[in-house]
Amino acid sequence: MTDETAYDLVVVGCGGAGLSAAVAYIEAAGPDARVAVLERAAEADRGGSTRWTTAGLRVDQDFVLDPRWVGRVQEVSKNLADIEYCLAFEREIPNTGEFLKDHGVELLYGEPPVEGMTKTARPNGGGLAIVDALARHVDAAPNASIHYQTEAVRLSLSDEGRVDGVVVRGPDGLLKTLHAQSVVLACGGFEGNYEMLTQYVGQNAVDLKVLAPGTQYNKGDGIRMATEIGAATSGQFDGIHAELVDIRTDRADAVLYGHSYTIVVNEDAKRFYDEGAKNFADSFELIAYEVWANQHQAAFFITDEAVMSQPQLTAWFDTDMPPVKADTIRDLAAQLGLDPEALEQTVTEFNAACNDRDFVPGIFDGKATEGIEPPKSNWANPISHPPYYGYPVSAAVCFTYGGLKTDTSARVLSKGGVPIPNLYAAGELVGLFYHEYPAATSVLKALTFGRLAGAHAAAEAHATAAATA
Ligand SMILES: Cc1cc2nc3c(=O)[nH]c(=O)nc-3n(C[C@H](O)[C@H](O)[C@H](O)COP(=O)(O)OP(=O)(O)OC[C@H]3O[C@@H](n4cnc5c(N)ncnc54)[C@H](O)[C@@H]3O)c2cc1C
Repeated sequence: MTDETAYDLVVVGCGGAGLSAAVAYIEAAGPDARVAVLERAAEADRGGSTRWTTAGLRVDQDFVLDPRWVGRVQEVSKNLADIEYCLAFEREIPNTGEFLKDHGVELLYGEPPVEGMTKTARPNGGGLAIVDALARHVDAAPNASIHYQTEAVRLSLSDEGRVDGVVVRGPDGLLKTLHAQSVVLACGGFEGNYEMLTQYVGQNAVDLKVLAPGTQYNKGDGIRMATEIGAATSGQFDGIHAELVDIRTDRADAVLYGHSYTIVVNEDAKRFYDEGAKNFADSFELIAYEVWANQHQAAFFITDEAVMSQPQLTAWFDTDMPPVKADTIRDLAAQLGLDPEALEQTVTEFNAACNDRDFVPGIFDGKATEGIEPPKSNWANPISHPPYYGYPVSAAVCFTYGGLKTDTSARVLSKGGVPIPNLYAAGELVGLFYHEYPAATSVLKALTFGRLAGAHAAAEAHATAAATA
């Protein structure tokens, strides 16, 4: 009889990072490898955030990372980010593309959506296609399985302090220890844990909705379990990646990216942000953070028929709710719950301040305001073509920046900088970003370092077996 609590590898988390680790381990160690993947959710909800993302990937058609990305991380983090980790990531990304294709994930490629961005790719079927494809490979291995409704509670240590498994709570509510030669932590950040969000991100973190249902399962457990045994951390613990969502819907990921082509006002009907300073990819999380931190979680996109008649622009408003529509700005304000006079004044001042250059979406068109604060530096098109439209928005949290510190083989490092034997980490729970997240790389980071964690753990197991033979 096989021991149902003895494994070669236990992976905590069933998203992109965890499944990549499990598949890479099985393929390196051989099909008989004993692998347990732990998933807090039920099978129907498996896959964490990965399940819900469209998975925009910042790569070109050869699956090469945007060459500006590493420099941008260095710049926005003010040199705080681990650049060695970023360079290893960049080098490994083409292999991640091959890994996806080899495991049945079809990749679609697109042109840059706006000036200043690279080409992008995405899996056909989004993150769910990745979860399903990789889970199929785990399910097909004879000694590997995904344990649903099973959550990791703490790491188990041998007498000499070596990680030798994970204490888990199963669907029966009881604790048991799954022993393993190696453990990969891949259970997300603390975006689904309001205690930790309040502790690290700050006051009123409870007002941040999660961006998608799968995000709620990520409660910072991997970070807690590893720091309890002395792991080092990395990334900005009060930093979050947030996005603006339509407040009228419960649909997951009802994101409104189009702030660049509108004006955005607060609950006093005043503008508070230069909506055209950067392209949307470099500003969507910053304006979302501002709405949460300083605008009482209430903001409104205001625009007109000149924008809404262009399908390539309305595509940025990815909600299932129609915009609020009115023939006058005053009526629009009333429908949005804003002071009509105040909104009319804001729009009138904005329109009078727009220069007369051409409005050209997609490139930095220099159509800017003059003499108002805050300015709008590009795409400042007067809001003067009725009907007028509005969307009420607030910020939702996607992931947290702070996490564990690992080396480029995904080994968790101690505070003293040495790898903690047998312990690996990948995905969102590895901290990297400071101040800003140069976007469309989270899924790639999860897949790349998950794969490296699994392959490295298998190589270590092989070396240990050879040494003791
Ligand atoms: C709506 C949405 C859109 C996004 N869009 C993009 C995009 O376009 N491009 C991009 O690069 N990124 C995007 N992201 C971010 C990206 O999806 C995530 O950063 C990435 O998928 C994280 O992968 P992961 O494996 O680290 O975590 P997850 O996929 O979240 O997986 C974590 C897993 O751990 C499990 N878990 C948690 N705690 C425990 C525990 N104690 N025990 C057992 N299991 C546990 C969870 O249930 C889950 O299965 C988006 C995210 C969302 C939500």
